[in-house]
Amino acid sequence: MKTILSCEFKLECNRFLGERTTRSDFEKRICLFGEEAVRKHYIGAKVEIPSFLDVIDPLPDYEIRPLFDLNAQPGPPVAKEVYDLAVETMLSGIREVKEQAEKRGEDPGAAPAALLLALHGAMVAEGHEDAEGDFLETVRAAVGPDCPIFVTFDLHVNMTKKKAANATALFPIEFYPHTDFYENGLKAAHLLIDTLEGRVHPAMAIRELPLLFPTLPTGHESFLPFREKISRLNEVPGILTARFTHGFFAADVKEGGGATLVITDGDLPKAQVLADELAEEIYEKRRSFFRETLSPEDAVREAKRLLESGTHCPIVLAEVNDNPGSGSTMDVPSLLRVLIQENVPSMFSALYDPESVEKAYETGIDAEAEFELGGKFRPELTGGPVHARGKVLAFSDGEYRNEGPFLHGVIHRFGKAALIAVGNVQIILCSIRVQPADRAALHLFGLRPETCPVVAVKSAVHYRASYEPVAGKILEVETPGLGPIDPRALTYKNAPKTMYPLQGLDQ
Ligand SMILES: [Zn+2]
Repeated sequence: MKTILSCEFKLECNRFLGERTTRSDFEKRICLFGEEAVRKHYIGAKVEIPSFLDVIDPLPDYEIRPLFDLNAQPGPPVAKEVYDLAVETMLSGIREVKEQAEKRGEDPGAAPAALLLALHGAMVAEGHEDAEGDFLETVRAAVGPDCPIFVTFDLHVNMTKKKAANATALFPIEFYPHTDFYENGLKAAHLLIDTLEGRVHPAMAIRELPLLFPTLPTGHESFLPFREKISRLNEVPGILTARFTHGFFAADVKEGGGATLVITDGDLPKAQVLADELAEEIYEKRRSFFRETLSPEDAVREAKRLLESGTHCPIVLAEVNDNPGSGSTMDVPSLLRVLIQENVPSMFSALYDPESVEKAYETGIDAEAEFELGGKFRPELTGGPVHARGKVLAFSDGEYRNEGPFLHGVIHRFGKAALIAVGNVQIILCSIRVQPADRAALHLFGLRPETCPVVAVKSAVHYRASYEPVAGKILEVETPGLGPIDPRALTYKNAPKTMYPLQGLDQ
């Protein structure tokens, strides 16, 4: 029996947030140790760890052991003690497998047979700007140069030379919204087994671009030709995977731009040529990836116009910059203020505001109270809270599973949550930040967004997976959030000033 060790260790780091991501932040999402706990967590979910299990569990000659799972909401750099705990858990898992091999009289140098890891790729930890690069370097030293290390990444991986140098093969996902975690994980797991069995020989090339790529759906018209080209490349015999990764500019790191990656079966020069060609074609079109968004006032005006002219419900207003999925505070009330002022029949998903949640619970169902909604963080930019009289409609423990293709079946937690109505505006208030990208967030309160004129959602791109099938129209709204979709909105300490488009779009 050959043992493959696995783990998930994920945080998308937004360095423009203060403080650090601690163990208690991971506990709000996923903080699990031991194979049994990890396996139990993923029953019914379609993401990487279940994909690894689905491929390897049925194989008679292999076993896979997920050692731990640490996954937090995007936030500031990971606390040193959490990073060190992840490293130590991985290293002790490796030591244990080696000892077991030795006891059986086998070569401990050949154990574990491989590592199959699910990482994000845009993690910064205290003392580690390229956290996954350092993590991979440490585990590579522990398993030796011949042990295959296969890693799945997010599309927003900050591709670095260190990550590439310390892994055998990297598998970033392909799509944004991220609907292919499971399929991409299946591919990585199958190719790992093929590699262990000597059927393929991965040869990987990357090409980093001096391009801070904006937060852009892969289905956007500007990117569509490249999406189609990448899909075609993935079908070519001898090409094991081809990707363009976006990087995550809010991580503010030295290597954090877009990058191409090509893995061929044994042909490194060909992989490099293909990676270079794709990178150059994308860089050539760099200006086209940047787009305009609407002010809250213009967005609400346009939504009304669309509804009056017969566009069907709902008009979705996406607050793309106050996306907790990019580390923003989820409490910017700029759009909410306009919806309330105009008394637009609408649903608001969702506002992070633990104080207002408590106020709702004190007030009780069907009773009314004065609320100070959102705007607690950085009031100088957001205009502070919205003062409004609201009626409390419902309470919830805030736990739901995504129903659409993005993170399908994965548990999401609002924490203690309440639904209130201010006039025609129904607002979900939550006490844990989580990207409410799926309509399931509204279903939690019995709300049916399909029949509501306007639905506001704090999400940059992932909401499209759930809302595009039902939306009459989607409008992107510009509000002052800490997870901007345009890299020019931030002032960088570490990203090189020469990165496009920091000197302007015509650079
Ligand atoms: Zn991502």
